[in-house]
Amino acid sequence: MVRPSNILYVEDNPENRLLVRRILQAEGHIIQEAGSAAQALESIHRTPPDLILMDINLPGMDGYALTSQLKAIPSLAHVPIIALTANVMKGDRERTINAGCDGYIQKPVDVDTLPQQIERFLAQRGTQ
Ligand code: MN
Repeated sequence: MVRPSNILYVEDNPENRLLVRRILQAEGHIIQEAGSAAQALESIHRTPPDLILMDINLPGMDGYALTSQLKAIPSLAHVPIIALTANVMKGDRERTINAGCDGYIQKPVDVDTLPQQIERFLAQRGTQ
């Protein structure tokens, strides 16, 4: 049994939010959801997350800009931000890393492997 973590999922698509929430709640995690960068910033100040899953294509401020902004906040600098995106063109992965993302998960979400992927990122954080 894994230690429950507080995970913030920034995603504008409600169906993706529902799917990821179901998968991660089944693992015992606590999921907060934000449908926009503004909601994410609000949520983060209420409850600091252990890990952030970041969609890139968001209305208004996109996931790259939001990641850069979050990484500039000293209290959040060590919170892993994992891009969860369907942008798989050449250069997209590099762009997420340049924006400050600590990892990258490709959409569509793989129901069977998402929990292990998340555990790996959480474990890495523990060894830093
Ligand atoms: Mn989106």
